[in-house]
Amino acid sequence: MLPIGRNRAVVIKRFWKDIYNRDEKQSLMRYLIDRDGVLADFERSVLETYRERHPEKPFVPPEQRSGFFYMEQQYPEDCRPLLREIYNAQHFFRDLPLITGATDALGELEQQGNEVFICTSPLLSNPYCISEKLEWIERQFSHDWVDRTIFIKDKTIILADFLIDDRPEVTGVQQPTWEHILYTQPYNRDVSGKRRLTWQDWRTVLR
Ligand SMILES: [Mg+2]
Repeated sequence: MLPIGRNRAVVIKRFWKDIYNRDEKQSLMRYLIDRDGVLADFERSVLETYRERHPEKPFVPPEQRSGFFYMEQQYPEDCRPLLREIYNAQHFFRDLPLITGATDALGELEQQGNEVFICTSPLLSNPYCISEKLEWIERQFSHDWVDRTIFIKDKTIILADFLIDDRPEVTGVQQPTWEHILYTQPYNRDVSGKRRLTWQDWRTVLR
């Protein structure tokens, strides 16, 4: 049984300080980092596999991609199932290429003392998506990052200072506490009104 009154308040304060270590971290930030299109190169992998399998079919080169969700919307009707077949397959999420600079950037953000989480939305049409994303994170980063991975469809309900995400608009049931910083990709280049970065220029942008 906890003591009451002032003593109890002191115990509670110590408890929260121990749990969150907030006194030491007050000036630091919490970052949510999206995975696909930010850490893992989803579209490059889909495009490369598609061109290998269907060299006779039309394709959209990265510099001509526009609009997010989904890339197949820029393709003729008969090509769309071929694209879906690629990203709904087993091993697709496990084998995605790493975006250059991602591991160094996350490591550096952490070393600065920030709280960094990978925050990713599961693609429910692929039954292997969640387990393979975790496998990929463990292999490309480390097991520690698996513990700091959040799977969620609605990122607005997570409390943080920044969300780094390639999706032009990230909306949900509430007004987010975070600033959405766009991870620059060809398909979001026309979006204005937001800060944007890549793992090449992030130090300057977040300074
Ligand atoms: Mg993404």
